[in-house]
Formats: sequence, structure tokens, C-alpha cells
Amino acid sequence: MLIFKSGVGAEGRNGRKRNNFLFPGNDGPRNKQPAGPCWFCLSNVDAEKHLVVAIGSSCYAAMPKGPLTDDHVMVLSVGHIQSQVSAPVEVRDEIEKFKNAFTLMANKQGKALVSFERNFRTQHLQVQMVMIDKSSTKALKSSFTSAAACAGFELVTMGPDENLLDMVNEGCPYFVAELPDGSKLFTRNMKGFPLQFGREVLASTPILDCEDKVDWKSCVLSKEKETELVNKLKADFKPFDFTADDDSD
Ligand SMILES: [Zn+2]
Repeated sequence: MLIFKSGVGAEGRNGRKRNNFLFPGNDGPRNKQPAGPCWFCLSNVDAEKHLVVAIGSSCYAAMPKGPLTDDHVMVLSVGHIQSQVSAPVEVRDEIEKFKNAFTLMANKQGKALVSFERNFRTQHLQVQMVMIDKSSTKALKSSFTSAAACAGFELVTMGPDENLLDMVNEGCPYFVAELPDGSKLFTRNMKGFPLQFGREVLASTPILDCEDKVDWKSCVLSKEKETELVNKLKADFKPFDFTADDDSD
């Protein structure tokens, strides 16, 4: 899924790797640079910089193309990392910081935060975070599990103390969703896994009721509208923005 569709390639014409401008030489052996340009590496998002909401020390938050709601964000690693499971602790910690901050922002608006990550046919870590009405939270778990059953797989419930790293080996594909109560729904059975699964469940009638937005390509906004929504997101996020302390701009 291309969120940032345009931008400069991660590699020059001669195929030599360019280092990320914020984290030169930060690529671990576990996170090889992709063969082609990765649109999610922060060094490549120049043309879509208007989608960036906040930049931390190892992660950044941005509005996806074709957001499900006006406050739909995703948190990505700055450098090229495959998934949360292959991410170093500082990246996982900062994802949690963003999650906590967006949870507080959601609370202020009487909403709750749902997050999900699909590490399957993706190459760069991205955790989607979507705010839903608190009244819809009761329907969440059953919506996820019945949609999974329809698609022919089972989601396992992980308790708040269970760790994703204990559930799956690095390099294995998986899907995980975190509900507002801290519980997680998890699968690593990706046979026939619908790529839009997370969006499908959240867009369904009992949750956000916007089924026309399941496919992000069908709801891409104009650049003007994107800029307007990101400016609003930045303003709403400001009271909770932990990145502001060490942000140079
Ligand atoms: Zn990347």
C-alpha cells in the first residue's frame, strides 16, 4: 500500500544506498534496505511532507492517504524497519508514547483509540491509529472476530501483559489490533488474509459506518483538504505532543 506515493528513491541510480538524513547508517542487519524506493522512510516523504503530524526521535506520525476519519493517523519508524517485532526497543517505546498521546487526545474528544499493525505484504513499519466513539467500543471485539471468521481465520486474544515479541518470530508475517481496554487480537495465519482487514472492520456499520472508505484509494482527498486536516490534527495533538521538547523546528 503506497501512502506516500511520490518522493525521491531510497537508492540512487547506481543502486547505492542513501543513508537516512536523520539516522545515517542506522540500518541494522535485520532491516535491510528494500530493493526499490520505500515511500515510508522519512527521508523519502519530501513530496508528501504536508501529511506529517509530528516527528519524534525514532518514529513519526502522519495522516495516511485516504484516512478513515479526520483524525486517523499512523505511526512509522523514521528509518527503514520492517515491523514492531523487528524494531529496536527505542522504536517500540516511542510507538507506545505516540499511542498514549493519541489515546489522551481521543479521550479529550470523548473517543477511544484502536490501533492495528499488518506485517504482511508491507516493507516498512506502520501502526494505524483510529479514534472511534466510546459507544462503539463494545462492538469492537465481536466485529474483529466475526470478520476474521468470515475470512477463514481466527484471532487470538492476548492479555494486556502478553507481549507481541513472545507471539511471533522476527520475519514472520502477522496482524495485531489493540483495543481500547489494552487487549490485543492477533493472528499469524496470513493465508488469504484480506489486506484491508483492519480498515474493513473499523469502517463497518457498528463502528465508524463508512464502508465506502474500506479501500483507501476510493477516498483520497485533495492536497488542500489533506493540509487542512493535518493542520487540525497538529493543533489537537499539541497539548499531548511529547516530541515538541526535542524538536528543532
Ligand atoms: Zn522504509
